[in-house]
Amino acid sequence: MRIGIIGSGACGLACGTVLEKNNIDYLIFEQNKKPGSKILASGNGRCNITNKNIIKKDIFIDYNLLLDFLNKHDCPIYQDEEGRFYPLSNSSQTILDLFLDNINKNNLLLNSPVLNIVKKDDYYLVNNYKFNKLVLASGSIANINMDKANLVYDYLKSFNLKINKLKPSLVGFKVKEDIKILSGLRIKALVSLYNDNKLIKEEIGEIQFKDDGLSGIVIMNMSYYYNQLDNIDNPYFLVRINPFFDYKKLNNYKYAIPNKLFEYLKQNNLDLSCLVFHIKDLYDFKFAQVVSGGVSLEEINPNFSLKKDQNIYVGGELLDLDYPCGGYNLGTAFNIGFMIGNNICNIK
Ligand SMILES: Cc1cc2nc3c(=O)[nH]c(=O)nc-3n(C[C@H](O)[C@H](O)[C@H](O)COP(=O)(O)OP(=O)(O)OC[C@H]3O[C@@H](n4cnc5c(N)ncnc54)[C@H](O)[C@@H]3O)c2cc1C
Repeated sequence: MRIGIIGSGACGLACGTVLEKNNIDYLIFEQNKKPGSKILASGNGRCNITNKNIIKKDIFIDYNLLLDFLNKHDCPIYQDEEGRFYPLSNSSQTILDLFLDNINKNNLLLNSPVLNIVKKDDYYLVNNYKFNKLVLASGSIANINMDKANLVYDYLKSFNLKINKLKPSLVGFKVKEDIKILSGLRIKALVSLYNDNKLIKEEIGEIQFKDDGLSGIVIMNMSYYYNQLDNIDNPYFLVRINPFFDYKKLNNYKYAIPNKLFEYLKQNNLDLSCLVFHIKDLYDFKFAQVVSGGVSLEEINPNFSLKKDQNIYVGGELLDLDYPCGGYNLGTAFNIGFMIGNNICNIK
């Protein structure tokens, strides 16, 4: 049996380690000249590898698989106060090295974009290599050059699969107000997302102001909740800076808030209690950490094979399975990769 894995990200590499350990013949195709670029980027290079808290979706994911793998290979991790796990090394390179050390490098074809997948009677041809089963782990179109747009989506469309609309997620928002004067400002605030005058989500964090919009982790997280909305109707952010300080007791804000914010309030005749930014749009995919949407979970068996072709597995971000910031996305991609590998090797 020979397995073709498309993509050397979290999902593809995790699957490769299981196949390697079980002496299964496999090849991993990677279009870039280096593997695992999003593993390296995660957690600002520290690798926010997974999260202690589990967000349940419509498919079961075994979150112990990654933790067991790290433990078995003497890769200690630690947890921050919000349940985010990081390697003790604080370096995503150590995580990538760990995975690369557990596959056979001769089985990793770099600079090898998959341009063509052809299904024959009982095998698949990928760039003219023959395989019995395929693992599609090519990730999403978030944060990449669009000329590297993910061709695997096109292949999946040929199966008449339900592919839910792709939207940039974990990304900043463009706003309607003219906020150029605030550009470059970073402030900690309680941010509340409203839609149709209903509160959708509220969180404290640092906002980073851009020329035409807002970013920062707290704002990026809001994009996850924004993307879950069925109807978008006058969405806006209410921003309360230093929510534990009572600004009403001051006669003048000038010496209590950053100068840029003071000027913005003055120019727009605003009060700190009504600092509102109306959402125009999300920033583009190239600024997003992940994509919301993808192959519908309705098309997938519990072992991550396609209902329409049980010899093709789909994992990681190609699936319509995204989460807020905090290690959930990376952790999910790794664990699905292990689950697919275990399924191929009949490991229960
Ligand atoms: C800047 C940034 C920071 C992030 N930080 C975090 C974080 O802190 N915590 C977290 O949980 N998540 C984070 N994420 C998200 C997380 O990295 C991804 O969700 C996760 O890596 C997805 O894994 P994957 O295996 O599905 O896809 P990927 O890791 O994207 O791997 C897919 C691979 O397939 C290759 N590929 C694509 N098409 C082809 C083709 N046709 N032929 C050959 N190869 C192909 C790609 O080049 C890529 O190497 C971050 C993402 C970004 C961009």
